[in-house]
Amino acid sequence: MYGKINEEILSQLKSIAGANNVITSPEEVCVYANDEYVCRQEGCQPEAVVRPGKVEEVSAILKLASEHRLPVTPRGGGTGLAGGCVPIYGGVVLSLQRMNRFLELDRKNQVAVVEAGLTLGEFIQQVEKQGFYFPPHPGDEGAMFGGMIATNAGGSRAVKYGVIRNYIKGLEVVLADGQVIHPGGKLIKNSSGYNLVNLFIGSEGTLGVITRAIVQVMSRPTFLRTMVIPFNGIEQAIDNVPLIFDRGILPMAVEFAGLDVLRLTEEHLHLNWPTHSGDMHLMIIVDAGSEDDLGKMTDEIADIVLENGALDVFVADTTAKQDEVLKIRSEIYEAIKKETIDILDTSVPRSEIAGHVRKIHEVAQKYGLWLPVFGHAGDGNVHTHLMKAKYEDGRMVPINVDEIKDKLEMARQELFQDAARRGGVISGEHGIGLYKKNYFPLTMEAGQIELMKKIKQAADPLGILNPGKIF
Ligand SMILES: Cc1cc2nc3c(=O)[nH]c(=O)nc-3n(C[C@H](O)[C@H](O)[C@H](O)COP(=O)(O)OP(=O)(O)OC[C@H]3O[C@@H](n4cnc5c(N)ncnc54)[C@H](O)[C@@H]3O)c2cc1C
Repeated sequence: MYGKINEEILSQLKSIAGANNVITSPEEVCVYANDEYVCRQEGCQPEAVVRPGKVEEVSAILKLASEHRLPVTPRGGGTGLAGGCVPIYGGVVLSLQRMNRFLELDRKNQVAVVEAGLTLGEFIQQVEKQGFYFPPHPGDEGAMFGGMIATNAGGSRAVKYGVIRNYIKGLEVVLADGQVIHPGGKLIKNSSGYNLVNLFIGSEGTLGVITRAIVQVMSRPTFLRTMVIPFNGIEQAIDNVPLIFDRGILPMAVEFAGLDVLRLTEEHLHLNWPTHSGDMHLMIIVDAGSEDDLGKMTDEIADIVLENGALDVFVADTTAKQDEVLKIRSEIYEAIKKETIDILDTSVPRSEIAGHVRKIHEVAQKYGLWLPVFGHAGDGNVHTHLMKAKYEDGRMVPINVDEIKDKLEMARQELFQDAARRGGVISGEHGIGLYKKNYFPLTMEAGQIELMKKIKQAADPLGILNPGKIF
């Protein structure tokens, strides 16, 4: 059903993007065949990788692809965790890596204008150098703006500051037929018709190729403090989270992690977590406009948790200590990645997180699995890790995956169903991509999926943009 890239098409691609920016050698294209999803799909080779340098080239490539019905898979940093940029129908991988300019910092409107291939790490450096701050922080700074927007990325600071959707004010998008559109702008208010900016955010490369974005930035929070609070038992830890919000305190981040994965990460990084008490820890980051306000907030949190089962409260008040704690929290995934089969990304209402986490423990016990769970306790986004290992004496002990494959699948389905029962969804920040599409109907009503398919059909009638994803 899809066309194939022949010599004639290849030479047209080279004349559009330059011969150096069209890659076809199998060794080089295979680098563009996967993302960070741990269970990699074999045999998904693009026929060509094209790296355009400007929007006119993206437009010409899409016109050519429409003419020959070639599948086109947009690709950013390849840090996605759902197989979203895996080119399952071959065709063209459209890498935005050369379109990586930081174009403007508009101080009056407090917005930056960037190209889609700019990485999060480079963006943070640029805005912080100029005295601004950008809160959304998906864990891998190699992620690019196009990819972060296409997955509606989040991160731990979403509790107080929201996800990427809350910061994207305008876009430049190339549609499947090559037309270039500019929804949104440097606007605070906009009630003019359907919100197309929001339509493209989270569309995972299936509705258009994002080439440019107008991004809200904010003033840097002046004072920050990180607290680490150990508990005995996950229930005790999680039950404290709503008590903090009930007092009207809104931390920047509330993360939770078990001592099992924290110890493995300490070993992996040769760094020290502040305490080994208990077995489940909360990490809370608070920010405020003055040292006094910050002191009051941390004291109040300490009083609440110590009255409700906390074993201790550790406060990292220097930048070095905060960085060490954050580094360990951010690298848990790297420490356990080699034995991880899948990372679930369920998102439930904040009030349901304790119940969902209890269910995870029940399911782990029922099937005799080690399912380390950590995540964003403050926003309801839970990352349960399906492992092909058990945890014994402080080590991961590998298990033959064939022996537990069925149990892992049953655990996955039970957890998705539990999230659905609690009004949740199967992805809070990673997207549906390739690997979650079979489960999408479990938490999404049929009418909504039908409407999404109609939108896809209207925006991309030939089905060339990132085919085989989401549905
Ligand atoms: C260690 C680690 C920690 C992570 N932590 C978090 C976290 O805390 N929160 C979080 O949200 N995510 C997290 N992620 C996931 C990942 O970083 C995000 O999903 C990120 O937004 C993907 O960006 P990318 O540029 O790498 O996109 P890619 O992986 O390249 O692509 C992702 C999707 O976006 C589409 N796409 C890419 N560029 C464009 C474009 N220009 N136009 C249209 N579509 C496009 C692709 O087709 C694909 O569907 C983590 C990943 C890792 C490896």
